[in-house]
Amino acid sequence: MARYGMAFDYKLCINCHACEVACKEENGIDLGAKNHRLWIKEEFSVEGDFWNLKRKKAEFIQMQCQECEDAPCLKACPNGAIYKDVNGIVRLYKEKCDLTRACLKACPYDARYVDQRHKVTDKCIFCADTRLARGETTTACQITCPAKLRYFGDLDDPKSEISQVLKQREHFILKPEAKTKPKLFYLK
Ligand code: SF4
Ligand code: SF4
Repeated sequence: MARYGMAFDYKLCINCHACEVACKEENGIDLGAKNHRLWIKEEFSVEGDFWNLKRKKAEFIQMQCQECEDAPCLKACPNGAIYKDVNGIVRLYKEKCDLTRACLKACPYDARYVDQRHKVTDKCIFCADTRLARGETTTACQITCPAKLRYFGDLDDPKSEISQVLKQREHFILKPEAKTKPKLFYLK
């Protein structure tokens, strides 16, 4: 039993999309699919006046399910199809999902999408059915990232790399106003 989370040293991202490709390959998702488990959000600001606007350096934010402790998607599902597994990962009983899409609307992070292959909703589950099920301790995106900016591990283990990095570095969560208690953290 663990309480898995992920931390991102997000400013190191070079927007290479290797994580996205690795995730699709790991989960048998068509490489060209637009909707899938993780993506990189480009944020940039502008400076200057109306006639002379200049784009400032972009920041790349790694986006995926935030593994909320208090998950709105789980609460919104009318069929009880969403649950938390022993490692605190928010999962789906596929046979109970009838695509009412209440979970898609409830997620503040737009992390869920419709898996057209199986006609159910889907999202990142930290490679629970593949790598974790095989006893591995890394996710496909983490192991592939050339910038090594993704930290994955047990938040309840004070000796884990993620616990250590969160102890040493200031960090923030996305949309704290949603009060979902995410287990994904962004390092300052
Ligand atoms: Fe559910 Fe969205 Fe939270 Fe993930 S980020 S647990 S899909 S509400
Ligand atoms: Fe950014 Fe790493 Fe993903 Fe490349 S693999 S886009 S550096 S998070």
